[in-house]
Amino acid sequence: MAQEHLSIDLNKLQANLKAVKACIPESTQVWPVIKDDAYGHGAEVIAEFLESSVQGFCVVRVTEGIRLREVGIRCPILVFESPRKDTVKSYTSYDLIASVSSPLHIEILDSGTHFHVNIDTGMKRLGAPLASIPELITSIHQRSDCKGTGIYTHFVHADDPGSPRVLEQLSIFKKIRSQFPEDWMTHTANSGAIFHYAKELDVSYDMVRPGVCMYGYSAGDKAIDELQPILSWATRLIHIQPVEKGETVSYGGRWTAPEPGFVGVIPVGYAHGLSRLLSNRIQVLIDGNLHEQVGSITMDFSMIWLGENSYSIDTEVILLDGVHLRANDWAKLSDTIAYEITTRLSPNLPRTYLDKD
Ligand SMILES: *Cc1c(COP(=O)(O)O)cnc(C)c1O
Repeated sequence: MAQEHLSIDLNKLQANLKAVKACIPESTQVWPVIKDDAYGHGAEVIAEFLESSVQGFCVVRVTEGIRLREVGIRCPILVFESPRKDTVKSYTSYDLIASVSSPLHIEILDSGTHFHVNIDTGMKRLGAPLASIPELITSIHQRSDCKGTGIYTHFVHADDPGSPRVLEQLSIFKKIRSQFPEDWMTHTANSGAIFHYAKELDVSYDMVRPGVCMYGYSAGDKAIDELQPILSWATRLIHIQPVEKGETVSYGGRWTAPEPGFVGVIPVGYAHGLSRLLSNRIQVLIDGNLHEQVGSITMDFSMIWLGENSYSIDTEVILLDGVHLRANDWAKLSDTIAYEITTRLSPNLPRTYLDKD
């Protein structure tokens, strides 16, 4: 086994998908968002595993869609980024669905391209501004050689249960929706909307776009108990140092030994995605015991306070297990969200996948 590796449990991924489906009507399609290498978990394996239980996938970049086609993914793929002159051909060559939000996007599409219209109802990111809708509709009519198949928007506050802003965005969206063909697929919901709103509000429509929840994390502060993190991260002790009471550990001497003992070294640092902001703040599991990470996390190595335990070299050290040691907790400690923790995991870390078979 490699010195450090990420292990991804596909059974838990399946369970998270089940939890998504439990929130939405049976007729609603599920198109998981596997952008940015499936939030760091490995888009190809995740897509191959999920393909038979979902109706499509969402990615951000055309290049991500191409890669999925190259490994044999056949289901519909919606691309969130806007079409550009240098990417328009790929939508038709690789059968990818474009997201359009301006007449400029529609003008440059390759003949035969399928597209969804992205409407801005408050995000102020890629959607079409409300004032531009008439113009957009005119340009769509001029491109009868392309095929509109969907319309969507994206919520700003869906991770916050009970936010009036979700309802406001939804009612703006409903008005705009009525100006587009009835048979186009409609979608609005990300993880937060699925778990915090789909039961009381009409946000599911024809399909949902679950992202972070698929990987087992709740969007926002409210815990979603049905979700299980699919990722765990383990490494090994590669070195052990004796320290005397009063000696400091690592750059800047930001931790001082309270008593004589041992400091273990793991070959994991911020270059692998263990943020330096977590220095002196997290715990790891060794042989079932919690131990503090101590001293500044360095680029390739971090130190662990072992106290009087002198474990042997190669003893397993668990950084994340999804149960006691969770990316959501790391996120809180470093003032970010689980999304950033998992997308920062170095692509060079070996990933292994657990499945029933
Ligand atoms: C990333 C993204 C999603 C998924 O969001 P989660 O909060 O991870 O569920 C859905 N829709 C769009 C447009 C996105 O960019």
